[in-house]
Order: sequence, then C-alpha cells, then structure tokens
Amino acid sequence: MSTEILLTCARAARDALAAREDEIEGLDRAIGDGDHYHNVKRGADVAVEVAEAQAGQPADAAMKAIAMKLMSTIGGASGPLISSFFLAASKSAGADWTPDVVAAMARDGTEAIKARGKADRGDKTMLDVLIPVAETLAEGGDDLRGRVKAKAEAGMLSTKDILATKGRAAFLGERAIGHVDPGAMSCFVMICAICDATEGGGA
Ligand code: ADP
Ligand code: MG
Repeated sequence: MSTEILLTCARAARDALAAREDEIEGLDRAIGDGDHYHNVKRGADVAVEVAEAQAGQPADAAMKAIAMKLMSTIGGASGPLISSFFLAASKSAGADWTPDVVAAMARDGTEAIKARGKADRGDKTMLDVLIPVAETLAEGGDDLRGRVKAKAEAGMLSTKDILATKGRAAFLGERAIGHVDPGAMSCFVMICAICDATEGGGA
C-alpha cells in the first residue's frame, strides 16, 4: 500500500477542518487560548505536504515522517499529542490498511496520546472521541463507518457538560461547562471526513 490512502485521508481532514474553522476556533477561544484551529490546520497541511512528497513510498514510513515533522511544526499541547499518535500508529501501519490494521493504528495511536498527556476518557479532551472510535474499530462488524461517526459525535458531545481536568480548560473549572472541547470537535470533524473519503475504498 502506497501513501495514496494516507493522502486521501490527510486532504479530507484538512478540507473538513477548514469548513469548520469558525466553530473550532470559537471553542478554543471560549475555553482555551484560541489557537487550536491554527494548530490542527498546520498539522493537516504538514500531513498533506509530507504524504505528497512521499508518493509511492510505504504508508508506514510516510506516517513516521509526518510524526517527525509535526513534532517540530505544530505548537500548543496538541502538537506533541498528535505527533505521538502518528509515531505510534506508524508502527502498526503495515503494508495494507485492512480493517484490522486500521483498528491497531487507532488503538496504538490513542494509547500513545493517553500516555503522553496522562489523560483518559472523561477529562474533556480529544480522547473522549478517540477512545470510543478506537473501541468501535476493534469491534469491527457491519456499517463500521456509520458506527464510528456516531461514536465520534457522541464522544464530542459528551465533552460539553463536564469539567476539564487536563489542558488549559482545566484552569476554568465550572466555566468550561457548556462548551464542547475544541480538540474533541476537531477530531470528530477529521474522523467523519476520513470515513466519508475512504467509503468504498476497501479498508
Ligand atoms: P493548547 O491547549 O496548548 O493551546 P491546542 O489549543 O492546540 O493547544 O489544543 C487543545 C486541545 O488539546 C484540547 O481541546 C484537548 O482536546 C487537547 N488536550 C489538552 N491537554 C490534553 C491532554 N493532557 N491529553 C489529551 N488531550 C489534551
Ligand atoms: Mg489552544
């Protein structure tokens, strides 16, 4: 498997983020410092650039290259977190992105974020989307994309009415309640876009 599928995913994520710019930026203005859209957009641009430059190479090598570049280019808390996702996922990326391989990538990438950020489900972060999505991919079965999108949406919405215990929003205490976590929103948006862009494409 070449970087083709990776490029499809990266472009889909970049375009979907751009379409929700105001919403994502607004959420980080409300409970963070307003830079989250900029950070994830920069990350998606890097993923597209590297995947384009590595055309024809194995996708696992391209994912590792993306992780390295992300480490030095995205700011904020999300930079090292997203970069650790790519680095861990690249190790299980393998030659072919079968459903089992995709499930292993999601599991290992999500575990790396948990370890790096010392966070878990219920902390009002991107993990409230990534953990249920990784679990659903591990279950496999029918209508996997539909179920992944539904879990991603439920996870994103679950962050609205809870306290933040990690990241900048934790400093706001009760004032963060009523706002969806920006990282959960950006992950939801990217995951749905990737599901739609890869529909009918095998894995
Ligand atoms: P910063 O918070 O440094 O400004 P960003 O705005 O880019 O960085 O990213 C904020 C997002 O990062 C949050 O909305 C949350 O989803 C995620 N996040 C913050 N801290 C953690 C953590 N320890 N573990 C997992 N995700 C986290
Ligand atoms: Mg921020």
